[in-house]
Amino acid sequence: MERKVRVRFAPSPTGPLHIGGVRTALYNYLYSKKHKGDFILRIEDTDRTRLVPGAEKYILEAFEWLNLKFDEGVGVGGKHAPYRQSERTMYKDYALQLIDSGWAYYAFDTPQQLDALRADYQARKMTFQYDCTTRQGLRNSLSLPDDEVRRLLAAEEPYVIRFRFPADTEVVMQDMIRGEVRMKTSLLDDKVLFKSDGLPTYHLANVVDDHLMEISHVIRGEEWLPSCPLHVMLYEAFGWKDTMPQFAHLPLLLKPEGSGKLSKRDGDRLGFPVFPLQWTDPKSGEVSSGYRESGYLPQSVINMLALLGWNPGNEQEIFDLDELIEAFSIDRISKHGAKFSVEKAKWFNHHYFQQLPNPQIAQTFLQDLASRGINADLQYVEKVVEQVKERCNFANELWDNADYLFIAPKAYNEKAVSKRWKSEAGSRLSEIAEHLRQIAKDADGNDDLFARNAETFLHNHITERQYPMGEVMNCLRIALVGDTKGINLANIMALLGSEQTISRIERAVSVLG
Ligand code: GLU
Repeated sequence: MERKVRVRFAPSPTGPLHIGGVRTALYNYLYSKKHKGDFILRIEDTDRTRLVPGAEKYILEAFEWLNLKFDEGVGVGGKHAPYRQSERTMYKDYALQLIDSGWAYYAFDTPQQLDALRADYQARKMTFQYDCTTRQGLRNSLSLPDDEVRRLLAAEEPYVIRFRFPADTEVVMQDMIRGEVRMKTSLLDDKVLFKSDGLPTYHLANVVDDHLMEISHVIRGEEWLPSCPLHVMLYEAFGWKDTMPQFAHLPLLLKPEGSGKLSKRDGDRLGFPVFPLQWTDPKSGEVSSGYRESGYLPQSVINMLALLGWNPGNEQEIFDLDELIEAFSIDRISKHGAKFSVEKAKWFNHHYFQQLPNPQIAQTFLQDLASRGINADLQYVEKVVEQVKERCNFANELWDNADYLFIAPKAYNEKAVSKRWKSEAGSRLSEIAEHLRQIAKDADGNDDLFARNAETFLHNHITERQYPMGEVMNCLRIALVGDTKGINLANIMALLGSEQTISRIERAVSVLG
C-alpha cells in the first residue's frame, strides 16, 4: 500500500520566522496537498536557553496571514497531540532504549572539563571532538567501570546521553534533491541526544517525533544536511529504517548579489523585509520590518517564494495557491541556491495588487487618508484608486501617487518649474483660466462634462495660438499637481472639479508669475 504523505514544518521558536523558513513550510504544504496528504506544525522548543517569548505566537500568526492551513499541530490539535515538544514526555525512554541496545551512552564530563579540553586542543591548533577516537579517554559509561557508572547515577551526578557512532561505517542517504549523500561515521561526533536538564536535544526529539507522527517526507533547509547522517543512524538504531521518511534538503535563499545566505542584515541594508510579519525584539526593542506591514499581499509572497528555488518547467510566473499545488514537484527544485530579488518581489505584488477590487483598496486608502487628517468621500476615493492603482506596487504608495487629488500643491517642484515654466507661462495660463471659467459655467456643476470640454478647448486653443503644446500642458500640470508627474490631465480636472482646477491655476500664476 502507498504510504500516506505526511509532512511537518518544525520551527524552533527562537525568534521571528525567516522568510526562508516560510518557503520551507510552503514547499511542505504544496507537496502534502499535491499528494492529498497532511501538513503538520510541530514546535521544537526543547532548547530552553534559546526560547524567545512571543516567537511561537508570531509563527502561528504568520501562517494565518499567509493562509497556509495546518491539518494537525500546535493551535489545531490532532491524533498525535501534543505537538509542542516541551509538552511531550516520552523522549527519555527512547534515549534509555538506545543505551540498552548499545547505541548510546552516559557521559559525565562536566562543561568545565569539556571547555578545558577544547581550549587545550585549540592551543595545539586542533579541534576537539567527542567521538570514537576520544571517548575512551573521557568520563562515560563506555570508559568507566560499571559499578562506577552505577554509583554516579545513584548519586545523581549530572550526565548527558550521547549517540555512539560506530567507528567503521559509512552512512548512505538518498536525498530527493541531491541524490546520494555519503558520510563516514568515523568523522562524526557523538552528538548529545539527551541533556542534563532532562530534555532531549533537537536530534532525538526530531527523529522520535517524525517516527511517532508517521512523517513520510522531511523537507527542510540544507543547513540540516550535516545532521542527517545522525538522523539516519538513529532510525537504524531504533529499528525504524523501514518507515524512515524520505529526505529533501532545500537550497539556500541567497542575497540579491547572489552569494551567501540571505540575512536580516541584507534586508536592513537593501530595504526589504526578511520576515513575514513585523517583529519587535522583546529584549532590545529593535523592530524588524515584515512583508505584511510593508504592504505585501499574502498571495504575492506565496507566489514569489514558490518560484525562489522551484520552477514549473515553463514560462508561467503567476500562480495562485491551487495552481501551485497542481504544478509543484520536488524534482523541479533546484540544487543551487536561489537569489532573492527585491524587484521581483515588487513585481509580484504589483500583479496581485491590481487584482484587488477597487472598493477594497479604497477602504484601505481611506484609513491612510484619515491618518493624514483627510476626510474623503468613499466614492471619490474609489475613482482615484481606479486612476492611480496601476502606478502602485503597494497600497502604501497610493498617497504619493495621488496626494494632489486631495490637497492643492503647497509648493511647486523647483526643477520642474525651472525647466518648464517660461516667462510667457503666467499670461498663457491666466488666459486659459478665464476660458475655463466660462466652460465651467456651461457645464453647470457636471465635472466630467467640464473636464471633457476643457480638454477639447485646450487642444484647440493651444493649436490656434500656435503655442508649444507640451510646454503649456506641462505648466498646467505644474499648476494642478505641483510637479510634472501625475495621471492624464483631463482625468485630473474631472476629479478635482472645475472650481478647484481654476483656483489652482490662478494660484500658480500668482506664485510663479
Ligand atoms: N527545529 C528545526 C528548525 O528549527 C527543524 C529542522 C527540521 O525540519 O528537521 O529548523
